[in-house]
Amino acid sequence: MLMHFPPQLPDRMERFYVQYIEDWALCNGLCMRDIDNSHAVHAPVTMFPTPFSKSGFEEALRIQCAFNELYFHAATHEEWLLGHLEEAAKHDDFTAKLIQIHKAAKAGQTQRLTGGLWRSDYIVNGSRTSLEGRQVKQVEFNTVSVSFGALASKVADMHEFLSHASRSWTGHGEVPRNTALKDLARGLANMHAGYKVAEIQHRQATHQTSTSAIEDEDDASIMDDPVVLFIVQPDETNVMDQRLIEFELVKEHDIVSYRISLAEVPDFVVRTNDNRLLHNPSGREIAVVYYRAGYAPSDYPTDVEWNAREMLESSHAVNCPSTLTQLAGAKKIQQVLTDRSVLTKIAPSLSSDTVDRLMKTFVKIYPMDDSPEGEQGRYYALREPDHFVLKPQREGGGNNIYGEDIPEFLQSIPTESWAAYILMELIEPPKITNRILRAGKLQSGRVVNELGVFGTVMWDRDHNELLMNEQAGWLLRTKLQDSHEGGVAAGFGCLDSIQLM
Ligand code: ADP
Ligand code: MG
Ligand code: MG
Repeated sequence: MLMHFPPQLPDRMERFYVQYIEDWALCNGLCMRDIDNSHAVHAPVTMFPTPFSKSGFEEALRIQCAFNELYFHAATHEEWLLGHLEEAAKHDDFTAKLIQIHKAAKAGQTQRLTGGLWRSDYIVNGSRTSLEGRQVKQVEFNTVSVSFGALASKVADMHEFLSHASRSWTGHGEVPRNTALKDLARGLANMHAGYKVAEIQHRQATHQTSTSAIEDEDDASIMDDPVVLFIVQPDETNVMDQRLIEFELVKEHDIVSYRISLAEVPDFVVRTNDNRLLHNPSGREIAVVYYRAGYAPSDYPTDVEWNAREMLESSHAVNCPSTLTQLAGAKKIQQVLTDRSVLTKIAPSLSSDTVDRLMKTFVKIYPMDDSPEGEQGRYYALREPDHFVLKPQREGGGNNIYGEDIPEFLQSIPTESWAAYILMELIEPPKITNRILRAGKLQSGRVVNELGVFGTVMWDRDHNELLMNEQAGWLLRTKLQDSHEGGVAAGFGCLDSIQLM
């Protein structure tokens, strides 16, 4: 079946397709801001939805709630988590600083709810041509600033439109709908609702211990339309992906959001005496702080940004995510959790059947420390690096070292700092060709696809209870095979949707 993919369009049809894609994208917000920020351009997209293993796709969706549960456990085992990051933090200032902020914020934290919009990323394993029955293997689990949920929903819609628009191509397999935009917005809305409930309870409790009884009127005025605060990068180009969620929040949930950068927090956020956050100048209470920035060292050029992060977290607002939750998404923690005995100890609520299924998605990941496993990792990294990728504790793409570059890289840094990395087996994707439209130009070639499955979570720290745990749609990113990293925003990859094989 794959032999007929991608479909060949008659020469004179291609121009209609390109115009359809460009204009559909601009009409529907499938866009990014241009580098100079003055106008929008269509997001890079594939011309056709890429064939993807049906069983792999379905399993990735099905297992998301189990991954949510696992990382909830990881993010709430503070001592365990920080213990595993200790060695990395010694050699990695960014990890060390996040730990420091977590500890400082914890002292003043008055909110028991934590939120998460997460994404588990996979590549289909095995380079044979047939896709049927293929398994997905996990690339990484992201617990902060996950992006492209909104645009991924739009691409699926666009591909569906194209399949209607053209009789020359009707598609091969079933093209699943993608509800990520709606699901992610609903996740934030649930955190917003959670805040209201937690705040009312909190205030009743504090009023009960004081002399005056709580007055309904007082309560109502405090709860006057709280907002969501989006923390964004000052030079963000992936604005529409964020704005679409913001617009969905208004349309479906009647919730308003404001966007500011970490550096702008002192200007636009006021902390009340009782540690609530108010948006200034609107005066509206901030229920949820949603981070679409703060995952990379470059997001914190000065202490202003670090202080802002600490202030936002040591407040009543529901942080999505908390710093500790962000740390749970470290590559080091992913490596530690590939050990079944560790996984079952940390997440005792998962059935052994579920643990089996989680384990099936893992490839081998080695530490690079001086443990016996680490010795093995170091051996492969130096002597047989071809089938491995070396990863630091970083997010956002462009940080990894591949195959034969690994030994030279390791020799260029102090041996003591190797423990701040992990060594992961390379997943070998199937060979597929597709066509990509980027900035109005068509490119063709072998592509690699990475599936992301979104999850929305919220938990109550005081009761150690998961209050929300949902699978929240998906994303397919596609890159030409000759670029190692799949960042769409970084310019290597593009957005895609799926036809199931
Ligand atoms: P980041 O947090 O920076 O996104 P990732 O772990 O996702 O880091 O790595 C970035 C990219 O590197 C992935 O999108 C994927 O293209 C590639 N990659 C990472 N790990 C593997 C792997 N084990 N096998 C194949 N490709 C990988
Ligand atoms: Mg990541
Ligand atoms: Mg990634």
